[in-house]
Amino acid sequence: MSQNAIAENLSKIKSALPKGVELIAVSKTKPVEDIQAAYNAGQRDFGENRIQEMAEKFEVLPKDINWHMIGHVQGNKMKYMAPFVYMVHGMDKQKRFKELNKEAQKNDREINCLVQIHIAEEESKFGFSMNEAFEFLSQDLKQTYPNLNVCGLMGMATNTSDKEQVKKEFGDLKEFFMKCKKKSPSVHFKILSMGMSGDYLLAIEQGSNRVRIGSSIFGTRNQ
Ligand SMILES: *Cc1c(COP(=O)(O)O)cnc(C)c1O
Repeated sequence: MSQNAIAENLSKIKSALPKGVELIAVSKTKPVEDIQAAYNAGQRDFGENRIQEMAEKFEVLPKDINWHMIGHVQGNKMKYMAPFVYMVHGMDKQKRFKELNKEAQKNDREINCLVQIHIAEEESKFGFSMNEAFEFLSQDLKQTYPNLNVCGLMGMATNTSDKEQVKKEFGDLKEFFMKCKKKSPSVHFKILSMGMSGDYLLAIEQGSNRVRIGSSIFGTRNQ
């Protein structure tokens, strides 16, 4: 994809987003030149799904980029992103919060994170069940994880052409998000990250306020 095409795709998508919905440009597998092109067009939030790849890109790209880890995270790799990551979307079990808090503490930072909820049919997707998450969110998180800022939920819908099903999954997550928000003592609990290239319009319709879009900006991926 040419740099012009990236800037054009980006501007088309951004201009169509309702107020309050922010875009995370998913740059996984794409070269730093592509990220720089989007950056030059004004984009500052980028999503990656592999910690090592994100760390390598962080090294060479402008330091005012907000790096979002959107993939599955492993405890033993967290130390590589803890010094710089802006937000971790894929917090899929309680153990991860303990691990990330420890790494954040070592770096004397506060790291934003989202609780990933399993809403799809596929077993291969990760996340808390709603019941588990509700219980988890009912504790005093700031006391248990002083170096984390738990600021919302993330979910991925089933990969299907059945729009009604995707709509229902997003709608259910939005409803659950509102229930958690009501219960959460944290003023920071306000992010609902759902929607990718194929389903972000549906996600926004159902109440998403962060969309994670890759291929519609940077082109299809080989991997
Ligand atoms: C890859 C990925 C995206 C972006 O997917 P596209 O279909 O390319 O927009 C969004 N969210 C997650 C968690 C991803 O892994």
